[in-house]
Amino acid sequence: ESFTDMCLDPSIMKDIAFHEYTTPTSIQAQAMPVALSGRDLLGCAETGSGKTAAFSIPMIQHCLAQAPVRRGDGPLALVLAPTRELAQQIEKEVKAFSRSLDSLKTAIVVGGTNIADQRSELKAGVDIVVATPGRFIDHLQQGNTSISRVSFVVLDEADRMLDMGFEPQIREVMCNLPEKHQTLLFSATMPTEIEALAQEYLTNPVQVKV
Ligand code: AMP
Repeated sequence: ESFTDMCLDPSIMKDIAFHEYTTPTSIQAQAMPVALSGRDLLGCAETGSGKTAAFSIPMIQHCLAQAPVRRGDGPLALVLAPTRELAQQIEKEVKAFSRSLDSLKTAIVVGGTNIADQRSELKAGVDIVVATPGRFIDHLQQGNTSISRVSFVVLDEADRMLDMGFEPQIREVMCNLPEKHQTLLFSATMPTEIEALAQEYLTNPVQVKV
C-alpha cells in the first residue's frame, strides 16, 4: 500500500512529499490503514521502523475530522512516551506532518522543564499533547488540562513505560477516557504485562509486527 492509497488530507500528503517519504515502511504499510479505519492497534515495532509517522499521521487525520474544533476544553489526542527525548522526537514528527495545518496545535508536556509555561500553553488550548506520564498526570491533577475530549490515544514504547514504573499513570489515564476512543499501543517487546495491558484497554485490536 502506498501513501496515495490511504486517502490522507492533501496538506498531510504535501508534508509527506516534503519529507521525501516516497514509500511507507513496513510498519506504516501495515499500521496506517488500520489506524485510519478507526480500529485499535497493537504494534510490535522498534525505534527506527518508522513507527512515529505510522501513528502520527493517522492521529493528525483523526483530529482534522473532529469538527468543529473548540479550544480550551482539552486535547483531542494524547501520546504517552517513556522519556523526554522520545517525546521531543514525536513532537517534532507530529509538527512535521501538520506544518500547513495552522488550526492544529501540538504541545509537549515533559518533566524537567518549566511547569508554569506548560500550564499556560495547555490552558490556551491544544489539540494534540505529547507527554511523559508523570508530568501529564501532574497537569491533570492541577486542573491544567483534561482528557474529557481525548478520542485518540497512543502508548508508545509501552514496555519501557512499564519498566520505568509508569503503569499507575497509564492506568489513571486509560480508566478515565471518554467511552468512545481509539487506542494504539506500540511496544518493542510483548511481555505478559503488555499483553495484559492490551487485553484490558484495547478493543478487538489488530496486531501488527515488523
Ligand atoms: P522512527 O522509527 O519513527 O523513529 O523513524 C525512524 C526514521 O525513519 C526517522 O528518521 C524518520 O524520519 C524516518 N522515516 C520514517 N518513515 C519513513 C519513510 N516512509 N520514508 C523514509 N524515511 C522514513
